[in-house]
Amino acid sequence: ARTGVVIVGAGPAGLVLGNLLLDQGIDCVILERRRREAVEGRARAGFLAAHSVRVLAQHGLDTGLLARGRTHRTCLFRSEQGEFTLDYGELGRGEVHTVYPQQELVRDLLAEYLRRGGELRFGAEVEEVSEGRVRSRDGSEITGRYVAGCDGHRGVARATLAAQGTRTARWDHGVTWLAVLAEAPPSLAAVGYALHARGFAGHMARTATVTRYYLQCPRGTDPADWSEDRIWSELEMRLRTAEFGALKQGPVLEKTVVDLRSDVLDSPGAGRLWLAGDAAGLISPSAAKGANLAVLQAERLAQALTLALTRDDESGLARYAADCLPRVWRAHEFSHWMSTLLHGPTAEDAEARYGRALQYARLDSLRTSRTHQDFFAENYTGI
Ligand code: FAD
Repeated sequence: ARTGVVIVGAGPAGLVLGNLLLDQGIDCVILERRRREAVEGRARAGFLAAHSVRVLAQHGLDTGLLARGRTHRTCLFRSEQGEFTLDYGELGRGEVHTVYPQQELVRDLLAEYLRRGGELRFGAEVEEVSEGRVRSRDGSEITGRYVAGCDGHRGVARATLAAQGTRTARWDHGVTWLAVLAEAPPSLAAVGYALHARGFAGHMARTATVTRYYLQCPRGTDPADWSEDRIWSELEMRLRTAEFGALKQGPVLEKTVVDLRSDVLDSPGAGRLWLAGDAAGLISPSAAKGANLAVLQAERLAQALTLALTRDDESGLARYAADCLPRVWRAHEFSHWMSTLLHGPTAEDAEARYGRALQYARLDSLRTSRTHQDFFAENYTGI
């Protein structure tokens, strides 16, 4: 018998989609190329928007989040002009973030999917998708009424759509981050963004004992060139700890390089293949939107596929792009704006001086204008 939906990829998009489809009594199979431990151990996102938390709560997927997630309502900015804090929970729509590490969310979603009777095959690398048929590397095939490509931005699903002529809008922010995960308690009560002549530095709490840090670095940087001492001294310098107090240091658990790039597919699907999450569009991590867009798209795709499979009505699928793309593009616009706020030119010529002055004017506007602060808060927490 044909499966209702074959889902490729067990990241946040695929697992939310799988759980929501099972909720509606739709049978699905998830094919994931990696082993379970690798899927459950990959630390990436941490900031969940209010909309994501609502979706997870509505579908009984928030038990771990409620028990271990922490609410964040402020962020602070540091620069050569000093420091200021924005209490964004009191601004805009009054929404806050829930900080919950992506790997813990993935672990919860996976356990719940299996508890609800879902089928998940690990170590199943999909090589080809065509007309509802999915072929894995080991030669096995599975057919579904629909295929959901939730296999990230380097996956087979988007390559298949691209080969069929779907176009992509793409932007390279020209910035690279060294993303560091440290076994160290957060040093600030809030998310910290530091603008510095040597480049951006960021501080983001993950748990009571783990903190994520970012350091802007040249494109092509080899993480091996960054020793623990170098990482901590650069963070101390850019976060201006001589002025504002030392960081709580600890062993570096992970250091990876992320080039800040974004892209959006013109159309996230057609016929029997539909995409969600990074597969449908990659967003630079500057405003922490990627996992949140994955949850939004998985929610909308689950509704559309449910209509198609239970009522033989494909109108939801026909509307899927129009449903998601305006919100996707708002997230990209804000993320791009954040990138221009956090990263100034580092050269010394007249154009670079002009670019840096604009960057500081942006920061000053955010520091002093209540209207700008409301706009920031609405977009920072919104999806
Ligand atoms: P993925 O998480 O990439 O999952 C795709 C899955 O598909 C993977 O498990 C992969 O193994 C599998 N797969 C791939 N190819 C195949 C194949 N051929 N066959 C079978 N399986 C396959 N977002 C936020 O919202 N907030 C944040 O704070 C945040 N911080 C971030 C920090 C960093 C350093 C990075 C890199 C990203 C961050 N993001 C953040 C973005 C977020 O992590 C991603 O947007 C999110 O993981 C997307 O989920 P996904 O399910 O679409 O894709």
